Amino acid sequence: PLPVVAVVGRPNVGKSTLVNRIIGRREAVVQDVPGVTRDRVSYDADWNGKAFTLVDTGGWDPDAQGLAERIAAQAEIAVSLADAVLFVVDATVGITDADEAVVRILRKSGKPVVLVANKVDDMRTEAEAAALWNLGLGEPWPVSALHGRGSGDMLDAILAVL
Ligand code: GDP
Ligand code: MG
Repeated sequence: PLPVVAVVGRPNVGKSTLVNRIIGRREAVVQDVPGVTRDRVSYDADWNGKAFTLVDTGGWDPDAQGLAERIAAQAEIAVSLADAVLFVVDATVGITDADEAVVRILRKSGKPVVLVANKVDDMRTEAEAAALWNLGLGEPWPVSALHGRGSGDMLDAILAVL
């Protein structure tokens, strides 16, 4: 079986866009309406000849009561099934309570985490990505899932923990 990488984070940070970027297809469901991906969807991925399985997560109603807890509960399931985690944060928004709830799950799991500072579409946003060092999860990789900026270095970081 291939190593499994779970893509987790609160709704609308760009998880599905990032999955599409990595698999090179427009298959993971991306919508302006957050929370559209249902539960967990797996895709075969490959970088530099190394194959792995990517698991996109989602399916939370962003207006639901106790959203942070629901996100954390879904993240806990996905992380328990994974060998490594891609934790996606929206660098243009910064750290929210829902992000913090996921961080607690990640710490508890002891699984290797690659921290993605997404929506860094240009040089100006790099400084906001650096603020994510405060999460205590190591180096934030600035990425634009939409345009592909930084995705090669991020993929190298994933292979390094597999
Ligand atoms: P998910 O809920 O975490 O799966 O997020 P989606 O992948 O569905 O993306 C939510 C919204 O963010 C969509 O409108 C995307 O086009 C947008 N988005 C995703 N990645 C980026 C990015 O790198 N830059 C910008 N500017 N927008 C992005
Ligand atoms: Mg999604």
